[in-house]
Amino acid sequence: MEYGFGMVSKAKLDELRALVRASGLRATPSRLAVLDMLLASRRPISHADVSARLSGRGWDPVTLYRNLMDFVEVDLARRSDMGDHVWRFEPVRSEPHASMHPHFVCTECGTVACLPEMQFVVPRARAPRSVKQREIEVQVRGLCDGCA
Ligand SMILES: [Zn+2]
Ligand SMILES: [Zn+2]
Repeated sequence: MEYGFGMVSKAKLDELRALVRASGLRATPSRLAVLDMLLASRRPISHADVSARLSGRGWDPVTLYRNLMDFVEVDLARRSDMGDHVWRFEPVRSEPHASMHPHFVCTECGTVACLPEMQFVVPRARAPRSVKQREIEVQVRGLCDGCA
């Protein structure tokens, strides 16, 4: 099957289908294409990124947005706002996204990159519930190599 960004092997397709179905969603072609793009990306991607890549295949931006939100709802993806009010999405169950990790945001060009996971210990009594439950976003802001 072709998605507009190269051929996807049968094995890869089966794997994507299994992931989507295991989460309780129907494995529609657009969901498979969106998930494939999320898993292949080395950084969180926005709805605009997904649309730019996939809308040429006949899927409208609204459908692609719903696909992204479906994945967030079933915990296949998480979304973060890097401070520019743009939601960026990344898969939850694949490396290097297996667990919570900080994101680097370039204050000059807006480039976003995933950083390795960091453990930080929070005193139990002091921290808000969201911190204890690790429902927080850790950001590192500075200049990327290209802007420094
Ligand atoms: Zn930069
Ligand atoms: Zn990340």
